Amino acid sequence: MPAQLQPQLPPSRRHLTEWILFAAGLLSSGAILLYMILTERAGAIEGDAARMRAQSLVIDQALYRQLAGVRSALDSARHALQPDSSCDSACRRTLLQSLRRSMPGVRALLSIGADGRIALSDDDIGDRRLDDRRYLDGLHHLCNASAMTVSDPFENAPGEFNIKVSMSLGLDNGCGRGAVSAILNPDYFDAVMRSALYAPDMYIAIADAGGRRLLYVPPDPAMMRRGLPERADDGVERLVVRRGMTLDGLQMNRELVIALGREAAEVTRPWRRLALTCIVGWSLFWLTCCAGLVMAQSRRRALRVLEHAAELDRSDAAERVELALNGASLGLWDWDLERQRLRVDARGCAMLGYTLLEQEQGQVDWNALVHPEDADAFASELERHKAGLSQSFEAEFRLRHRAGHWVWIQSRGKAVARGPDGRALRMLGTRSDISARRHAEAEIAHLAFYDGLTNLPNRRLLMDRLGHALAKAGRAGGYGAVLFVDLDNFKTLNDTLGHDMGDRLLEMVAFRLQLVTREADTVARLGGDEFVVLLEDLGAAPGAAAGTAEIVAQKVLDTLSMPYQLEGHELRSTPSIGVVLFGDAHHTIGDLLRQADMAMYEAKAAGRATFRFFDPGMQAAVDAATRLEADLRQALVDHEFVLYYQPVVDAGGAMTGVEALIRWHHPQHGLVSPSAFIGQAEKAGLIVAIGDWVLEAACAQLAAWSHHPASACLSIAVNVSAGQFQGSGFVERVRAILERSGADPRRLKFELTESMLVQDAEDMAERIGTLRALGIGFALDDFGTGYSSLNYLRRLPLDQLKVDQSFVRDMLTNPSAAGIVQAIVHLADSLGLDLVAEGVETAEQWQHLRLLGCERFQGYLFAAPMPADDLGRRYHLGTVACAA
Ligand code: C2E
Ligand code: MG
Ligand code: MG
Repeated sequence: MPAQLQPQLPPSRRHLTEWILFAAGLLSSGAILLYMILTERAGAIEGDAARMRAQSLVIDQALYRQLAGVRSALDSARHALQPDSSCDSACRRTLLQSLRRSMPGVRALLSIGADGRIALSDDDIGDRRLDDRRYLDGLHHLCNASAMTVSDPFENAPGEFNIKVSMSLGLDNGCGRGAVSAILNPDYFDAVMRSALYAPDMYIAIADAGGRRLLYVPPDPAMMRRGLPERADDGVERLVVRRGMTLDGLQMNRELVIALGREAAEVTRPWRRLALTCIVGWSLFWLTCCAGLVMAQSRRRALRVLEHAAELDRSDAAERVELALNGASLGLWDWDLERQRLRVDARGCAMLGYTLLEQEQGQVDWNALVHPEDADAFASELERHKAGLSQSFEAEFRLRHRAGHWVWIQSRGKAVARGPDGRALRMLGTRSDISARRHAEAEIAHLAFYDGLTNLPNRRLLMDRLGHALAKAGRAGGYGAVLFVDLDNFKTLNDTLGHDMGDRLLEMVAFRLQLVTREADTVARLGGDEFVVLLEDLGAAPGAAAGTAEIVAQKVLDTLSMPYQLEGHELRSTPSIGVVLFGDAHHTIGDLLRQADMAMYEAKAAGRATFRFFDPGMQAAVDAATRLEADLRQALVDHEFVLYYQPVVDAGGAMTGVEALIRWHHPQHGLVSPSAFIGQAEKAGLIVAIGDWVLEAACAQLAAWSHHPASACLSIAVNVSAGQFQGSGFVERVRAILERSGADPRRLKFELTESMLVQDAEDMAERIGTLRALGIGFALDDFGTGYSSLNYLRRLPLDQLKVDQSFVRDMLTNPSAAGIVQAIVHLADSLGLDLVAEGVETAEQWQHLRLLGCERFQGYLFAAPMPADDLGRRYHLGTVACAA
């Protein structure tokens, strides 16, 4: 965790308390330890002192016994040395010798005369200090006959000390009578004293009251020369025990003191070791405790930091969850299934218009708010999950909002606690308001089955309802009817008034259709201006059913034919209606719609604004058309088409050109006229391929004729259908065919029909202009039969008009036909167009046409359409030069 994010934890009181307890423990244990150490030290010193005191007593007793022995020996010797003794000098010497031998530690026994000289000695050790004046003076004044005088130690060989113990020879008043002395070897005492040494650093000294040292162990001449050490000048502190010797009865001339000493450091050495061990142990113990406490506290602190961080993380996570729930508009719920207590959070309550407080006060019974239609599905899903049959619980249902409306809720949850039998005890989950999504889905579903403009059922829903209606009719044996309604000239209206107006009209048509039908009937829009009305339950009698259907069809016809008020315009529109009954025979939906469609076309063919019932003859016609289409396709593949040519002649009867007219050499039916198949070819789109073939053949013929003077001046007029001319790529294909064939475009003419002119005039004019630029001429065929605006005629770059043969046929008997022909002649003249009269069959017709001013003619009077070869033979195209 980065330093700046380290949580700042407050100092722990527990840590402080621990340190205070630690310090208290440390100090109190330290004090106890110190007390114990000091007590131990005092005990050690006291113990040693006691031991030394005991040793001093032992030494005291041992020395006393020795000195008592010496006194006894000296006493015996001085008695023997008395002048009145019976013992001669040899006896005295022997006595002295035996006394000395009987006393260990006595080196020599000798008698000293009053002059201070050695009178008798059992040994000739040559005591050079015997004439020591000070000593002799002492002896001289030794008047107490029972007193025993002890000399200072003296060295009679370097490093070898002796002590002299003397008694006066005068038994009564011994003054000046000489003395008897024993020279004591200190080694003898050493042995006694050494046995009392129990430590290497220990010394034992015998001194007199003046502090003069008489004996000293361990043997140390240097120490012997010093006084009794109290606090030695060597700076070493010592523990000293003194004891004045108990010399009662010995009548010593001086008091003797036994001093035992040890180096204080040595006495306290075990104590020090123990103290050191204790201090080290104590220190180690407390150091360990300190380290342990530090570690425990730092571990605890680390744990606290982690806990704190975890706490922060938890609160962060909780915040994030809260944010996420907020963002996703999710409410939380917690359901105690055992106590049947469902708690929803504030967001979840607000979805239904309630507050948390209201829920807490028990004012909201969530289960009672579930929509009755959704309750079963909700309960079964819940039961499944409670029983452990699903991983999680998920349900979409409606809850009643406080305001009364329904709110779609999606609830997702999971059992978080289950009993031993696996039953859920507690569940947690979320809820969200999915009303918007549900409404959108409903809208999409609606759009999938309803028309967006009119809100009527669309084709899909109609199919579904038709399926049901057919099945029902099949089961129950009743009749129903389908009305196929198509608006007449709707396309023209749409193109001229605009799509918005077209849409308004469709809406009104939908509205009127619903007005004239029953609730149980279905009014659907198939698309464009096509509507279908499905009538069900028309009864079991076909006659009555047809009667009802007819009444409805008539009502529809009348209602839809009434004028429409559209944005201030009064508009008139009529429908063509095809009616088909169903129920008496096996029908499929497709059949039914096709038959209604056919009947509708029949109504159109009958002049529109009417209705027609479907009859089986229509089906036969449709079947024939289907067969014809298939045959036409095959004919293209099998090259069964041929071109016939019909001459166009001038006023003198000379051929100026021909019209190419297609024929079909049908394998079964023989030569078939174009009027039998061109219409179907146009419907099926085959006219493009057939038209291309015609153009190729005509251009090839032009190219062939161009090589002969008699035919080089002939032009060929080719009929071009609307679908062909307006299809894409027509201009390019014409150009390519011309190039391929090498035909002269100026000898080529296209015949268009009047109906083509009502299409996009601008586009027409542009195409005609492009092709005319190549040299191709344009004629308007069957002029007078269709709807030709004079304005179109003026704007289109045409070369020729062809008067329809119906006027030619009637003009001699019908004055109005003659008038029309006359008008057409004037029109062509005023527009500067050529004029060809078609269908001239009689000389009278020809004559009359010429009188009217017509200059070109076509008809059986001159020649019927014929193959190119026949034409060549008949008109001697190979021999006679071209007239033009
Ligand atoms: P159309 O272009 O008006 O052709 C003239 C029709 O009148 C031809 O009928 C012709 O045989 C016929 N006819 C000529 N003189 C007389 C006469 O004196 N009396 C009578 N009663 N009829 C006469 P056809 O060949 O049966 O062609 C019928 C229509 O088929 C043509 O009428 C034309 O619109 C169309 N057609 C013919 N060939 C083609 C073609 O290659 N392409 C296209 N798109 N249409 C063609
Ligand atoms: Mg024609
Ligand atoms: Mg014609």
